[in-house]
Amino acid sequence: MHILRSQREISQMRKAGLLVWKAHQVAAELVKPGATTGEIDAAVEEFFEAHRAIPLFKGVPGKVPFPAVCCISVNDEVVHGIPGKRVLREGDVVSIDTGCKYEGWCGDSAITRPVGQIEPEVQRLLDVTDGVLQLAIDLMGKRSRWSEVASEMGTYVRDAGFSVVESFVGHGIGREMHEDPQVPNFVSAQLRRNGDFALEPGLVIAVEPMVNMGSKHVKSLPDYWTQATQDAKPSAHFEHTIAITENGPWVLTGAPREGEEIPS
Ligand code: MG
Ligand code: MG
Repeated sequence: MHILRSQREISQMRKAGLLVWKAHQVAAELVKPGATTGEIDAAVEEFFEAHRAIPLFKGVPGKVPFPAVCCISVNDEVVHGIPGKRVLREGDVVSIDTGCKYEGWCGDSAITRPVGQIEPEVQRLLDVTDGVLQLAIDLMGKRSRWSEVASEMGTYVRDAGFSVVESFVGHGIGREMHEDPQVPNFVSAQLRRNGDFALEPGLVIAVEPMVNMGSKHVKSLPDYWTQATQDAKPSAHFEHTIAITENGPWVLTGAPREGEEIPS
């Protein structure tokens, strides 16, 4: 069972969310032809350190512990790419996923950005993936169960001619990055059977659609972490940490509103 958070706790989580939002702005400055994914990761790590935020991804257990503060996945890489010497080139798309813990609360967000000029069909993939996340956020304030949102997300992506990745899902988030419930971007038998949950005030989840231009199938690369499309076609990934409040959904990793400041 998942935990519902008080308005006060959600406001605390907003601080971590603002830091993650700002980290993405720092990263965006470096997304250009010639930059390496390792340089982007180093800038985000420095930002978190300067703000006394604990990076959440570094050291995540696996066959080898995850070695960086961002997952950076380029083109056909879907998620969990390891930053390093790879040089970004004009026409690439780069998914940057990062999270931090601040004063005991977590935030997690991902954005896929174009490197210079990209193909129109790849831009459409980015727009549809961002669009399906925005749809989910909107519906979180209008539907009563997650399965209703997941169903509409699946339809939205299918109607665009793309595929929702089913191997990875979003998650509850709070004191830890990965908490209950699981948050799939599609309706599965498991969701229908016993995975569904109510959209009620206090729920805080990370919603993270991954959309492939071709088939939904992914494969693991030999580095033990990177997931790539089997058909080598591009993939996109967008994620926000979202709370449901009495006033509707609050995107905790969204841009600061008037009067809000990035925690120093
Ligand atoms: Mg993430
Ligand atoms: Mg996540």
